[in-house]
Amino acid sequence: MNFQLTPEQSQIQELARRFADREILPLAADADRQQTLPLQIQAKAVELGLVNLTLPQSLGGAGLGCLELVLVTEAFCHACLGIGTALCINTLAAEPVVLAGSEVQQQRYLAPLLAGRFASFALTEPGAGSDVAGIRTRATRVDGGWQLTGSKIWISNAPMADFFVVFAKTSPDAGHKGMTAFIVERDSQGLTVGPSMSKLGQRAAPTAEVFLDAVFVPDTQRLGAEGSGFGLAMQVFDHSRPMVAAFGLGLIQRCVDESLAYARSRVSMGKALIEHQAVAHKLAEMQMRLEAARLLTYQAAWMTDQGQRCTLQASIAKAYAADAAMWCATEAVQIFGGMGYSTEYPVEKLFRDAKVLQIYEGTSEIQRNIIAREMARN
Ligand SMILES: Cc1cc2nc3c(=O)[nH]c(=O)nc-3n(C[C@H](O)[C@H](O)[C@H](O)COP(=O)(O)OP(=O)(O)OC[C@H]3O[C@@H](n4cnc5c(N)ncnc54)[C@H](O)[C@@H]3O)c2cc1C
Repeated sequence: MNFQLTPEQSQIQELARRFADREILPLAADADRQQTLPLQIQAKAVELGLVNLTLPQSLGGAGLGCLELVLVTEAFCHACLGIGTALCINTLAAEPVVLAGSEVQQQRYLAPLLAGRFASFALTEPGAGSDVAGIRTRATRVDGGWQLTGSKIWISNAPMADFFVVFAKTSPDAGHKGMTAFIVERDSQGLTVGPSMSKLGQRAAPTAEVFLDAVFVPDTQRLGAEGSGFGLAMQVFDHSRPMVAAFGLGLIQRCVDESLAYARSRVSMGKALIEHQAVAHKLAEMQMRLEAARLLTYQAAWMTDQGQRCTLQASIAKAYAADAAMWCATEAVQIFGGMGYSTEYPVEKLFRDAKVLQIYEGTSEIQRNIIAREMARN
């Protein structure tokens, strides 16, 4: 067992940390207040080769692994969960095309991402989030392709996306076996994107509803075989959950850094906060959860890179990191006392941002369902 990053991994981690400190951090508070992604940040990240890391070399991508993605994501989200998510979430839309797309589909849709374009993964609907098999968007066969009707909600980066990977029911009575994925271009007739949704946290990462009203999609834009959509979505989640766990790692590390600095400088009853055991123990607990979350996340990423099935480990990493992030952000606010409640200090944003980690990409409850199911399989 080797816990050492390779020189190349250390190098990309260092580059991402510098980028996060110099380019993301100065924009974070304002982007949060304005609820907008400063688009110039994407162009800069593209220039440095820090986004779309896992796209294959055959398409001009870096062909890096999930572990490198995790290292970069963690660094970005240390500076801002919202901007970090917006920069990294193309991976979620690209992955189904990498896994199930034909060569022609990959060339047409993935190559532009390398030039800085955006795409979205559109699964969730107003009536079905956790209940993936319960989606209602319908794809019916028509001459030359399909007609899609339905609506999607909470779609990350939808306001900027050039295309959407839309999951729809091709056989509504076949349960999860009746789902198929399609690439739907933004300018398709009948597709509209709603306004950016107003959110509690992660406010720099835009999300919107997507409406499909009898949208024609040629059969050449079907991803994989008819009925393979549910399996594809689950495969994508196995690969993307380590990345989402790394969103949490960045946020937890930031909670530790901010809390430690404050606990050293703030004096109460004649001594620094850190010298009060109740505060010191909170910091110790944060560090313990950070290191446990990091090991779990790196393990799941490593397994992905080895081509191993990692449903169990990816769900454990995601659930643990998300819960740890929420716990650490809550305690960070507590350590800051009244100042933790003020928008002048960074921890209130960490607190607001952390919550979403327990909700998207499968809630903490759904992760526990998956973990228990995987345990029962063995
Ligand atoms: C900021 C943000 C960005 C997002 N980005 C995307 C995106 O890009 N693409 C996309 O497709 N989706 C996206 N989502 C949607 C997200 O994945 C869903 O919100 C999430 O899966 C939960 O679904 P839901 O909101 O319908 O909640 P529900 O499924 O209605 O769940 C409500 C509550 O009930 C619990 N629950 C439900 N079913 C069970 C069960 N069987 N067992 C135990 N507990 C259960 C849940 O854990 C939760 O606590 C995003 C969401 C947010 C908030």
